[in-house]
Amino acid sequence: AKKIGFNKYVFFNEQINAILQRNLKLEILLRKAIYDKEFSLHYQPQFSIPDNSLIGIEALLRWNSPAEGSIPPSEFISIAEETDLIIPLGEWVMNRAIRQIAEWNNRYQTTLKMGINVSIKQLNHKEFGEMIKSAIKFYAVPPEWIDMEITESIAIEDAYDIHEITKTIRDIGISVSIDDFGTGYSSLNHLKMFPFDRIKFSKLSIDHIVNDEFDKEIVRSIIVLANFMKIKTIAEGVETAAQYDVLKELGCDQIQGYYLAKPMPAKEFEKVFFSLPQQ
Ligand code: C2E
Ligand code: CA
Ligand code: CA
Repeated sequence: AKKIGFNKYVFFNEQINAILQRNLKLEILLRKAIYDKEFSLHYQPQFSIPDNSLIGIEALLRWNSPAEGSIPPSEFISIAEETDLIIPLGEWVMNRAIRQIAEWNNRYQTTLKMGINVSIKQLNHKEFGEMIKSAIKFYAVPPEWIDMEITESIAIEDAYDIHEITKTIRDIGISVSIDDFGTGYSSLNHLKMFPFDRIKFSKLSIDHIVNDEFDKEIVRSIIVLANFMKIKTIAEGVETAAQYDVLKELGCDQIQGYYLAKPMPAKEFEKVFFSLPQQ
């Protein structure tokens, strides 16, 4: 038994080493990454229920490293946050996404919202407000075309600062969505504390709504609360028709997920969702 224990320990250590080495490698690669060449944004549509009209788009970061191939955000975002590289990278995302929505809304005479993910590190950066203002000025977009998705897992110690920055964003005229709702800390308290425009149910909170009455009732209650507060609800990670039907029955306002469309490059998005005049 002792021997097994020891082997397990060694195995565990090796695993940690492998993770640390991988992270270090990614950090070095991130520092050297040339944004316009290695990074791109994919776009996933958001629809309103029940009419299925396109109302918004979420921008999702993609990294194609010449050395390592395609690396998912789940691997590199946390490294970017820990090393503060998220500041220049986040600024790149912001500019790229705003440029894209300016191009599409102007070309196709639409008023779609571009949802941009921002991490707490970015929000806490002192120049964040100015950075956004100069980006919307540069691309001449109405702030209503932009939505910022802020993840719900905010530690209570940061709550006051986040409240202030959320207010700053909304004062500019940009809406704020609370991302990953239902997975993090004291969700309901956050609702009371922060001035949000939209709740985004995490994939986890809707995964089982079809078969699990309890999960379904939680989503129902939050929708009731959101209606009371006059804020919108959107469900992400919707993969099946059955989930769609339940969300419709519960009165969820909007929907996003593989069931309707996966994230895709700009060119493809344009082909699928904007009808180009025939030549
Ligand atoms: P998120 O903001 O919760 O984004 C939703 C994730 O779910 C995306 O993964 C998306 O591709 C995926 N997804 C969408 N529909 C479905 C579905 O029906 N089923 C399943 N299984 N997945 C679905 P992705 O693109 O890998 O991004 C992961 C996370 O990385 C994001 O989670 C977000 O927290 C972060 N992230 C992505 N882009 C950025 C960015 O530009 N800045 C920051 N700070 N974070 C980002
Ligand atoms: Ca998001
Ligand atoms: Ca999410």
